[in-house]
Amino acid sequence: MKGRKLLMIPGPIEFEPAVLSMMSKPTTSHVAPDFIDSFGNCIEMMRNVWQSPSGQPFIVGGTGTFAMDMAGSNLIEPGDNALVISSGFFGDRYAALLKRYGANVDFLQPQLGSVVTTEEIETALKQKKYKLMTFTHVDTSTSVKINPQPIAELGKKYDVLTILDGVCSVAGENIQQDAWGIDVVLTASQKAVGVPPGLALLVASPKAMAAYNSRKTPVGNYYADWGNWLPIMQAYEARKPSYFGTPPVNLVFALEVSLKIILKEEIEKRFKRHQHIADSFRAAMKALKLEIIPANDTIAANTLTAVYLPTNVAPTDFIPAVSAAGVIIAGGLLKDSKPYFRVGHMGSVNATDILGTIAAIETALKKCNYSFTANAGLAAAQNVLLG
Ligand SMILES: *Cc1c(COP(=O)(O)O)cnc(C)c1O
Repeated sequence: MKGRKLLMIPGPIEFEPAVLSMMSKPTTSHVAPDFIDSFGNCIEMMRNVWQSPSGQPFIVGGTGTFAMDMAGSNLIEPGDNALVISSGFFGDRYAALLKRYGANVDFLQPQLGSVVTTEEIETALKQKKYKLMTFTHVDTSTSVKINPQPIAELGKKYDVLTILDGVCSVAGENIQQDAWGIDVVLTASQKAVGVPPGLALLVASPKAMAAYNSRKTPVGNYYADWGNWLPIMQAYEARKPSYFGTPPVNLVFALEVSLKIILKEEIEKRFKRHQHIADSFRAAMKALKLEIIPANDTIAANTLTAVYLPTNVAPTDFIPAVSAAGVIIAGGLLKDSKPYFRVGHMGSVNATDILGTIAAIETALKKCNYSFTANAGLAAAQNVLLG
């Protein structure tokens, strides 16, 4: 870590050295046998990480927003009704995106720091027939987490396709795509999946693929069209060469390394590690008398935490002071909220990283003249970590 700061933002994150060194492997042809094999392995391993043996994985160059775009553009036809269940910034984005493809969008939005209830969702579903609904597992602007399972149940009950924006949760929070019956679970490489930015990743259920196949109009986005990408995914999985658009070769090799690391750790243990580290961070914030955005711990994410700054501490003083202490954290994303900061704790994050981050936060709070008991945050976190 010498000469370099610890990157603790909600993506990109700190990457495993093995993943980074794979990025520098000389780029090969996208139809070279070793690349085909790597791509095929990634597709197979995604089914395990997503817990979706029946799903169709897609690996396409792009960001998380493109993964959202891919799901939206392939499943929406002009005039379809869509329900967007928001918990912050990325819900707004999904509504705007679906409207581009001609959807009639209804929008459910909770108070800042809380979630839309299952009852509110069911009320909306009773009133109108929807083609699909979207929900954000962890909203990265607020660190509020929803429980996808009862929403997926409602999707089955009312025959509505379900799209989970899992950009800030896949490989960090518990997701069981097949068991819960979610139609699309999407993410991007740079978050808990642990690969530098540049890959849009999603897994689509047989029901989502059937909905795509029964479209009456062409997909409004040429690059995103599953009709272009499905044959490529199938070819690579059959270990055959194929081409639609040049895949980001080095990123796919790196994805293979990261998915292997994730599965070697074991997915359940990985979720528990995220929970443990998040618990320790929340305990530290509480001990420092700093309030987090989520209204209670059951809806607080394990992949990042959004924390209100004390009055009289400006983000423009605080965040550079944390950086000067060696740790990069993020500012708030919501413009009309009280000032807050965000700390990402996902991927290969460990106890030492989180303790170092809390130490840097205490140093910055002191510099900003906030009054607190020195080491209170560190001690609270260490108690959780040792417990
Ligand atoms: C980061 C994020 C996105 C957007 O991903 P990009 O890669 O920045 O396009 C979408 N949704 C959620 C929940 C995110 O955390």
